[in-house]
Amino acid sequence: MTDRELEILVDFHKDGQRQGPGSDKITEQALKLTEIDLNRSLKVADIGCGSGAQTMILAKMIIGEITAIDLFPEFLEKLDIRALQNKLHKKIKTVACSMDQLPFQEQELDLIWSEGAIYIMGFEKGLKEWRKYLKTGGVLAVSEISWITDNRPNEIQKYWDQAYPEMDSIPNKLSQLKKNGYTPLAHFVLPQACWLDNYYDPIEERLPNIKRKNPKNKDVDAFIIQEQEEIRLYKKYKEYYSYVFYIARKTKAEMN
Ligand code: SAH
Repeated sequence: MTDRELEILVDFHKDGQRQGPGSDKITEQALKLTEIDLNRSLKVADIGCGSGAQTMILAKMIIGEITAIDLFPEFLEKLDIRALQNKLHKKIKTVACSMDQLPFQEQELDLIWSEGAIYIMGFEKGLKEWRKYLKTGGVLAVSEISWITDNRPNEIQKYWDQAYPEMDSIPNKLSQLKKNGYTPLAHFVLPQACWLDNYYDPIEERLPNIKRKNPKNKDVDAFIIQEQEEIRLYKKYKEYYSYVFYIARKTKAEMN
């Protein structure tokens, strides 16, 4: 992606409530499935936090400190404002850095959270690299796009083979968790409303604005076409794939 393309992407998505499929209820549900005792003080990382939709829910539900990490300060600025408005700022520290260079000590975290972002470094690489930051018995909760049927039409298979070659079935994602030193505790498929009502509908509403602001910009036009294509394919093939929340505990093992 060129710098200009990135700039368009960030500029557009920073105005969204969220930058990926999800919902407040889903975050709450996933946190309960971690089986973590919410009455003790926790150290949490929210990786690829975006403008912080899920960070607000986590901060409401936990005691302790959340480090919210994103590569783009534009998103973190939005998150900081939201945290202040919700009087949650004392619990949240934002850090602009890349998810493959996290600012944590080994065995520091009780909980690693990441919604719709681990795919950026790749699911398996993320599992491998992040594990060392978890305390023994610490929990990883990530949402990851996955195939939810055994077979699917060529058009959608081809699209995702190209867009995200690591996209895989739920059983294979669970195997990868186990292979990399995690014990799966729970997983569930995000409902379609998380994609449509909470993510794609707001995008479709905002796309005309970016066109209005940049009436003759080739890169903006290309961006709009790309977003529309992703949405069209989701609407056509939503039976075949979704984000899936995976919740897994760091297995006590010699591997570090
Ligand atoms: N968790 C949020 C955002 C998901 S979108 C939500 O569900 O709404 C993915 C996020 O990852 C974006 O905010 C993007 O800026 C961020 N991101 C992209 N590359 C990154 C990197 N290398 N390191 C950290 N964050 C990154």
